[in-house]
Amino acid sequence: MSTAILSPAHLEGHLAFDHPLSPRSHLADLPALARAFAHYDARDLWETDTRRLPRPLGRLRRRARAFAEAFIAPASAELDLAPHLPPGQVHPAAQRVLQAAGRDGWLSYFLPAPVGSMGLSCALHSPIWQCSLVVEEFARACGGLMLLLSAHHLGVMPLILSGSPSVIWKHVRPIYQSNLRGKPHLAAFAITEPGAGSDAEEGHGAAAYRPGVVATRAPGGWKLNGRKVYISGGDLAQSLTVFAALEGEGMASWTCFLVHAPAPGFTVARTELKMGMRASGAAELEFRDVFVPDGHVIGGLRQGWVLNRATLNSSRIPVASMGVGFAAAATEIALQFALSYRLGGRRLIDYQDVQMHLATMVAETRAIRSLVWQEARHAWQPRQLFASAAKFHATDRAQVVAEMAMDLLADHGAAHEARIERVFRDIRLTRIFEGTNQINRLSLIEDWQGELLAPRAQLGV
Ligand SMILES: Cc1cc2nc3c(=O)[nH]c(=O)nc-3n(C[C@H](O)[C@H](O)[C@H](O)COP(=O)(O)OP(=O)(O)OC[C@H]3O[C@@H](n4cnc5c(N)ncnc54)[C@H](O)[C@@H]3O)c2cc1C
Repeated sequence: MSTAILSPAHLEGHLAFDHPLSPRSHLADLPALARAFAHYDARDLWETDTRRLPRPLGRLRRRARAFAEAFIAPASAELDLAPHLPPGQVHPAAQRVLQAAGRDGWLSYFLPAPVGSMGLSCALHSPIWQCSLVVEEFARACGGLMLLLSAHHLGVMPLILSGSPSVIWKHVRPIYQSNLRGKPHLAAFAITEPGAGSDAEEGHGAAAYRPGVVATRAPGGWKLNGRKVYISGGDLAQSLTVFAALEGEGMASWTCFLVHAPAPGFTVARTELKMGMRASGAAELEFRDVFVPDGHVIGGLRQGWVLNRATLNSSRIPVASMGVGFAAAATEIALQFALSYRLGGRRLIDYQDVQMHLATMVAETRAIRSLVWQEARHAWQPRQLFASAAKFHATDRAQVVAEMAMDLLADHGAAHEARIERVFRDIRLTRIFEGTNQINRLSLIEDWQGELLAPRAQLGV
């Protein structure tokens, strides 16, 4: 093929849009009836997806992106490189984001007024879907700040899922309203113990586990003793949903206790210096005779295990959405690089194997977004099987997309300022928390076994 007839506005191996053999610009010349089925208005892909959403969710997605670009992205590199702070200290840049996020309603949007900030027009759509849209945008901008903001919702979730209007009024409303006033009040969710990560997420392991945090009866309430580890935002949280077994009983007695910090006997022992998401502290918490009044037992005694699993079913879809945000960031970074970098006198994007590499990244990102939106859309009562499948698959594929971006950028990708190495480190953590991806695979089967073992089981997938 001669390249002489091609205008400069084409990529190597492709015809310019005005070429007679190029379909896109000629679709408009088809007869009206054919145009109705074949012609399309090509737009930015993000814009297309946003317009496909129900209107209130499209507006939410735009607002989330605007907030992420104005407040989250600019602080990202600084917070990733900032020295590891002692527990309880918050970096000024993170504090500014927390205040702005609070005022803007990003720390209170699971419930509408008078409790929270969910827009009434959004109330017809699953909160998990709303959360997934927001989380994708925040993850695209900065993994650490995204986790700092998201872990708060995880901490509040057991309070909401307790299903008790008085818990929501007495405990959730003050948290939400304080954030809306620009006074950050964070919550954290504490299940993991030094001896139990998977065993706090999966029943078979839990059945043989000897609980590490134990509640002992005291006049008017309970005293908690033991340690929790890797609790996101546990270093800054003022409200913690802490899961503990009753003294002398096993994990079946797990109960959710609402602990307000600071409290006598409660200490943040340290935060981990971890590989990514550094703007969010992963705290080790120590409980020494921490008194919790009876009114702070959430969901009833021995209801903790089911509350924990319900919380995870709700949160794993937004975690899958973190994968989508990271994959989108990785793909955008790779595209930008391929357009601007020259190799052998040509733009990198003019190499067709690079085009194929990028096409795969785009398709992978869009495939996991489709998966997440499909599950999130219906997640009023999120099913364990679907939530776990979305979580492990989206985050695993996002890692592959980031790896592909690293391949393309080569040594440029190893540099901190290229951002892709940060994205790569951040994604890895989504494959560990909320249950490792191996545990999430088991969760899928655990939930499905009733159908798998039923007589004359229908094994449709
Ligand atoms: C950044 C970050 C943030 C976190 N935030 C929170 C938080 O906010 N709150 C909280 O409570 N926890 C949090 N965690 C803890 C997290 O949920 C646990 O790390 C996770 O559940 C895995 O537990 P573990 O690390 O103890 O691994 P382990 O349970 O020790 O597992 C070790 C290995 O064994 C495998 N394994 C375990 N059981 C089985 C089995 N039955 N069959 C096959 N393989 C198995 C696991 O997949 C893994 O590969 C966070 C962790 C990280 C890294």
